[in-house]
Amino acid sequence: MNAPYALPGDDVAYSFGFLDEFAKREVRRAILKAIAIPGYQTPYASREMPMGRGFGTGGLQLTLSLVGPDDTLKVIDQGSDDSVNAVNLRQFVELTCPGVQTTTHTRQASLIQSRHRVPEVPLTDAQILVLQVPYPDPLVVVEPSEARRKAMHAEGDYSRLLTKLYEDIVQFDEITISHRYPTRINGHYVIDPSPIPRYDVPKLHQSAALVLLGAGREKKIYAVPPYTDAVPLAFDDVPFRVEDFHDEHGQRRACCRCGATDSFLDELIADDGSKSWQCSDSDYCDEQLAAHQAGAAT
Ligand SMILES: [Zn+2]
Repeated sequence: MNAPYALPGDDVAYSFGFLDEFAKREVRRAILKAIAIPGYQTPYASREMPMGRGFGTGGLQLTLSLVGPDDTLKVIDQGSDDSVNAVNLRQFVELTCPGVQTTTHTRQASLIQSRHRVPEVPLTDAQILVLQVPYPDPLVVVEPSEARRKAMHAEGDYSRLLTKLYEDIVQFDEITISHRYPTRINGHYVIDPSPIPRYDVPKLHQSAALVLLGAGREKKIYAVPPYTDAVPLAFDDVPFRVEDFHDEHGQRRACCRCGATDSFLDELIADDGSKSWQCSDSDYCDEQLAAHQAGAAT
């Protein structure tokens, strides 16, 4: 096993949050612009980070530009605080931001960086959610030219995207997009909400917390400001719907660990082929389990 990485002794060579102050200021300016124009993909000079692009460098640059010594940070990957990506990003912030607290509890965090999930617990206006984004532009599936895509966004012309959804309905009887579901923000720009499942898309609508999305490789930052409309694209006669967790008897499946019937579930397949379901949000699962055990003990 590799020895844990440590910064060189003369830590004065690194500013708080690894990025230099000029870089942080530039990211903050892009954030302000992104908030002022909800859903607009604001370009910024994405910096080289000491990790591969695609490992959350966009989200990390947002986090490092926002985090201060009074903050409590939670990092989630696919709902879990313990996966490799989440652990590494959290350790990197601990290493470069002395004084910043880290937590696994959603309710205690002031800043939450996440990949692929929005926490189950409703976020408050005292919290900021940072989502890591691989592909920021929902139009990329229908238009290869960025210049043309920009014009389409400016004109609010999403007809080709709607045609794509319609073709899905013709072919499969429903819209087959499972994640990265195109979502219209504040009645104008349509965003790629990052690879969160459909289940999480309604949580963006009128969210009390500021939601920031950062794409490091594509050099874009965009935002869903607090209490802003976020409406998934759909048709009047084919409404948007989230993942269905009902079994063949019409019963809502429950988490096999905590028994919750109101969370997004991961399907687990055992060696013998039997299936079970468990909360994807590990903190929510722990919380429900603790509540059950406390209830059973009294
Ligand atoms: Zn659970």
